[in-house]
Amino acid sequence: MFRNSRGIELKTDDQLCLMRKAGLVVADLLDTITAEARPGVTLRELDRIGRETLARHGAESNFLEYGADARGEGGFKGVVCLSVNEVIVHGRPTDDILQDGDTLSVDGGAILAGWHGDSARTVQVGTPVAERQTLSDVTEGAMWAGIAAAHLNGRIGDVSAAVEAYIENAGPYGIVREYVGHGIGTAMHQPPDVPNYGRAGRGPRISRGMAFCVEPMVTVGSPENAVLEDDWTVVTLDGSSAAHWEHTVTCTPKGLWVLTAADGGEEMLGRLGVPFGPLAD
Ligand code: MG
Ligand code: MG
Repeated sequence: MFRNSRGIELKTDDQLCLMRKAGLVVADLLDTITAEARPGVTLRELDRIGRETLARHGAESNFLEYGADARGEGGFKGVVCLSVNEVIVHGRPTDDILQDGDTLSVDGGAILAGWHGDSARTVQVGTPVAERQTLSDVTEGAMWAGIAAAHLNGRIGDVSAAVEAYIENAGPYGIVREYVGHGIGTAMHQPPDVPNYGRAGRGPRISRGMAFCVEPMVTVGSPENAVLEDDWTVVTLDGSSAAHWEHTVTCTPKGLWVLTAADGGEEMLGRLGVPFGPLAD
């Protein structure tokens, strides 16, 4: 592994295979938590289930104590961000109780053998509210459109433009601009930024060995947002619902490999007509 001139880590094939192992832990983490997301459950309970899942895999959390200062204060107190309804991202695992019709985004990660994975999904709690289900579907579709636009020697702007175009074609939705996808590897957040808006053909070149997260955050209303006094929770200013989907991906000579998808992305990439390119699986 080395860094290119933009500070982007370029992993060896063996290192990407280690990242795949971390990604599979993240897939199980999100499977396990979303399966328990039902009316009456507290966010704290979901976080506890997440901690158990990471421990079962011998993995560490890259979310727990994220952002702590030099004195060890102010870090995030959970292994997942749990963002309900108008919360866009960075929701905390509080004693809040999930209600029928809530929309919940679960953003989680894992460190295994020093390599990071990061992924998020949005699910409907109990009886889905149509507007929220549609918002989540659009956000998920935009994530896959962005992933499908990535290829070796392409540009990060190709991904950004594909995400933006998908959301704009789906209707009048808000695209959150203050938070973006990112490179990932020996740390969770690395160069390059992967914005959810931009121009094709611009930005860093997508090289062999790069791994990055594609993570659109979309709102029903205005994308204007604010951070609550807890210094974490990001909410829409107009109170409209938000959704968030994320996967960690890499481009191989054979195609795309979605490191945090249980099937490596094979099914969705097949549907989109994009080559699936696992290094090993
Ligand atoms: Mg994430
Ligand atoms: Mg991320």
